[in-house]
Amino acid sequence: MLKVIQSPSKYIQGPDAISHIGQYTKILADHVFVIADNFVMNLIGDTVSKSLKEHQVTSHFEVFNGECSRSEIQRLSAILSNNQCQAVIGIGGGKTLDTAKAVAHEAKLPTVLSPTLASTDAPTSALSVLYTELGKFDGYLLYPKNPDIVLVDTSIIAKSPVRLFVSGMGDALSTYFEARASSTAHNLTMAGGGTSLTGLTLAKLCYDTLLAEGFKAKLAVEAGVMTPAVENIIEANTYHSGIGFESAGLAAAHAIHNGFTTLEECHHLYHGEKVAFGTLTQLILENSPSEELETVLDFCVQVGLPVTLEQLGLRENENLHKKIMQVAITSCAEGETIHNMPFTVTPEQVYAAILAADRMGKDWLY
Ligand SMILES: [Zn+2]
Repeated sequence: MLKVIQSPSKYIQGPDAISHIGQYTKILADHVFVIADNFVMNLIGDTVSKSLKEHQVTSHFEVFNGECSRSEIQRLSAILSNNQCQAVIGIGGGKTLDTAKAVAHEAKLPTVLSPTLASTDAPTSALSVLYTELGKFDGYLLYPKNPDIVLVDTSIIAKSPVRLFVSGMGDALSTYFEARASSTAHNLTMAGGGTSLTGLTLAKLCYDTLLAEGFKAKLAVEAGVMTPAVENIIEANTYHSGIGFESAGLAAAHAIHNGFTTLEECHHLYHGEKVAFGTLTQLILENSPSEELETVLDFCVQVGLPVTLEQLGLRENENLHKKIMQVAITSCAEGETIHNMPFTVTPEQVYAAILAADRMGKDWLY
């Protein structure tokens, strides 16, 4: 099996990086389509517009409606084509960036992505996660290439909501464990090849960086300030985790996350919060050593990631077990990444692992 590593052509990170967007965009195009949601547009629209003008790049700005759905991709694609832009710039959270990738792919144009949050590892990857208009998981769109440029302004992210920053650590937390499981099973990764030493090492670096810097970074973001720990966590959440999941493999944690998206009670949760609980569940599925489980539990509790069903919004009642079974069945659907685990996984096993993870989380908290 061939090993494949894929990544964006350029990754740029630092304070006030957004004010350099014109310089980097100019490499790709003279007329660009810019999408961002209303909030982001108000926050940095002027800075982006000024930087583009400084580098003689003309632009058409369009407001993103908030969901990376098939209908939104179609709507924006039509506007893009009417304006004959030569590249797509997406600025915002994971859903904005995923939509920008889809729109650019449909039009066969280069992509510049600027995440304003470090809440997921979506920015660097050659895929989008599609949701229905009601926010349910709808599938993955895979592209032949990664974004051309990923530009991360750490001053913006340092001022982002703490919960989203922590959620990014939840998404990054699964990277190493999913990569380890998937590579043990010799599976194909999202990059379409086997896991390389590079992919696995970045995934491990991601986990080590979270443990070393996560809590310090969380405290700094609570204070709304930039520190070296914040810079390092932004790199871990975005780059290490991004290359790690794509070129080293996904497994149970993300499939279990997808299962939880089917529950109404969990819709208020961010991606990484569900992934963190999915990670705990995966570790129980694979009967990971107690020491490792305890390190992960400690980390989650310290930074504020959910470790119990109650923290996920699920209360003990007569329907709970039925709902958990529904999560387990969905996580084992055909084509799900849970089948990248190095052993056969059944819904019954996932159901048991979720309840055991919840029990362990409760024990850890109280
Ligand atoms: Zn993820």
